[in-house]
Amino acid sequence: MDARDIKTHVTNLDKALKEKAPAGTIIDILSSLKKGVVATESVLRETKVGVAVNRCRLHEDKAVAQLTKEIIMKWKNDVKKPGAAKSHGSHGSHGSKDSTPIKSPSTSTASAAKFTGDIENRSKDKDGVTYKIYGDSGRDNVIGMFYDGLVVKTDAGPQHVLKKAVETEKAIFAQFKKLDSNYKSKARTIFLNLKDKKNSSLRERVLSGEISPERLATMTNAELASKDLQQEMKAIQEENLKNSMVGKPEKSVTDQLTCSRCRQKRVSYTQAQTRSADEPLTTFCECENCGHRWKFS
Ligand SMILES: [Zn+2]
Repeated sequence: MDARDIKTHVTNLDKALKEKAPAGTIIDILSSLKKGVVATESVLRETKVGVAVNRCRLHEDKAVAQLTKEIIMKWKNDVKKPGAAKSHGSHGSHGSKDSTPIKSPSTSTASAAKFTGDIENRSKDKDGVTYKIYGDSGRDNVIGMFYDGLVVKTDAGPQHVLKKAVETEKAIFAQFKKLDSNYKSKARTIFLNLKDKKNSSLRERVLSGEISPERLATMTNAELASKDLQQEMKAIQEENLKNSMVGKPEKSVTDQLTCSRCRQKRVSYTQAQTRSADEPLTTFCECENCGHRWKFS
């Protein structure tokens, strides 16, 4: 693919994103870019294709986001290959890293040195960060919790993650002014959503700065939830709405059910006949501790 072809793809991609085209359209464009582009610094600089593709990194469709990451990884390797950067280089003699446009916004700050160890196995203790900054165990522990939540499967630098954890705690503390039960429950809810393996988009958006710590501190449970969970919650709400038209079923709390998220045994449930009368009842559950909802039949 020559520079002109690439630029055409970039234009099409920008247009597709702007018009919120279906994921399939974006994937088509990204796939031919992945196949057709051998990245060098000059290609990236001239066509701005890295910048355009990087915009898809946080796309709500997981396949788009995944493909974007693969492309960026591939191009980073292309550029790093010996000779690749220099073959065209008009000013490639030094500082090749500075002119590579494929960067997340966070990497431009000094505190954002990438983590190079095993990203599957990170925590405040394993990363060895100094999270006890107040000498008040209540607040310090919340900072540590947020660090552990944010650091799931990411290569973001420890100092960058720590900064986000500190700022998020500060925003919650500013909201409640003291370490009361509201502060604690807010902190726990945010932590559980951050560390949720299915909720990588929340972590990424916080780490990239798309969601500010202040915003994170005031998000509702539904806003915090992963896309899957949001859909599930919506489905349950719709079921409940349907049920409410035939009389609201009685809600009871049981210690026989365990919340899969926080492992507490304080779960309220309602049962309803959602389909025909000869099919089993559907049970709608909600954890009284963390608000997690699910259903089974
Ligand atoms: Zn729970």
